[in-house]
Amino acid sequence: MKTTNVKAFGTKAADAPLNEMTIDRREVTPKDLEIAILYCGVCHSDLHFAKNDWGMTSYPVVPGHEIVGRVTQVGSEISRYKVGDVVAVGCLVDSCRTCNSCEQDLEQYCLNGWTGTYGGYDKHLDQPTHGGYSQKIVVDEYFVLKVPANLDLAAVAPLLCAGITTWSPLRHWNVSKGSKVAVVGLGGLGHMAIKFAKALGAEVTLFSRSTNKEKDALDLGADAVVISTDATQMASVLGKFDVIIDTVPYIHDVNPYVNTLAISGTLVLVGYLGPIDPFLNSVPMIMGRRSVAASLIGGIAETQEMLDFCGENNIVSEIEMIKMQDINEAYERMLKSDVRYRFVIDMASLK
Ligand code: NAP
Ligand code: ZN
Ligand code: ZN
Repeated sequence: MKTTNVKAFGTKAADAPLNEMTIDRREVTPKDLEIAILYCGVCHSDLHFAKNDWGMTSYPVVPGHEIVGRVTQVGSEISRYKVGDVVAVGCLVDSCRTCNSCEQDLEQYCLNGWTGTYGGYDKHLDQPTHGGYSQKIVVDEYFVLKVPANLDLAAVAPLLCAGITTWSPLRHWNVSKGSKVAVVGLGGLGHMAIKFAKALGAEVTLFSRSTNKEKDALDLGADAVVISTDATQMASVLGKFDVIIDTVPYIHDVNPYVNTLAISGTLVLVGYLGPIDPFLNSVPMIMGRRSVAASLIGGIAETQEMLDFCGENNIVSEIEMIKMQDINEAYERMLKSDVRYRFVIDMASLK
């Protein structure tokens, strides 16, 4: 198959900084769109992947799965999109589309393995997939989303991962008017969780480690902030929440948060990937029918539902725009939780 060279930013090793490189994009097949990338959000998963935190990275890796761009070519069988349309691509670029999960619009749980926007396997090229820190991407139209016309395009980009990853569990666990929701950690995912929970009618509390982000959380729509390092404040919310969305990226003690669940409440892990340590105490779970669950991004139909909801309710991410060349510094700041609340790369900087 013919390929096109495009400029990208990626890394060749866990301990190497990201640098400019050239990657191949496949030629447009009948079902593909070629998209010139305008903006790409910077997710903490990009950093985990670049640094091989999950032990599954093969190099080189070009991260980026919060993509907004403009269609530059359409395959011969494309009818939903035309050249010039503004579109979006999230974390998924393929799945089997026939398994039980795919048939239920749950492509993220494809039983035959979904294809990640980066770090996946491009069956057309027989090569790893490469993400949105690049000038162009070629994607099957099934995995391309429509962007509501009224929203700021750069601030839409983070909806494609931070947005859908928090939207999906809020919907699955039926958050609605009057629900009591807590969010652990105010970063990219956390700030979207607050906005969505609030827009769905919930009473929203943020758990944060310090008072630094208290005012921001209230401005974003939280009704209260609980400092997780303050035992008195933690005691004041015991047994309170119907749903907790835990976005903490690293290993941490989840038991103090489980204790703040109401009877039949659910804590949903969306951040940390790995064994729970030091332990998970079943006592508050058994004594209150409480659950600890987890959730992965969202399916394509649900992502479109979320984008449409954002269009109707004027919801976007809070962003700090960066140049592609600033990505290593952005990762350093992300490691210090110094992001308010999502970096977005202006891809025009990669000339
Ligand atoms: P982020 O912007 O860096 O935000 C994470 C927040 O967690 C920080 O702002 C901080 O909030 C808190 N935090 C950070 N380190 C912590 C620690 N050691 N202990 C306690 N709290 C800590 O990250 P993000 O982009 O929102 O991503 C969060 C996690 O979700 C990452 O692990 C990412 O890989 C994962 N993720 C999962 C999915 C999925 O499908 N499940 C999708 C996307 C991302 P405070 O300063 O308020 O404490
Ligand atoms: Zn992500
Ligand atoms: Zn499938």
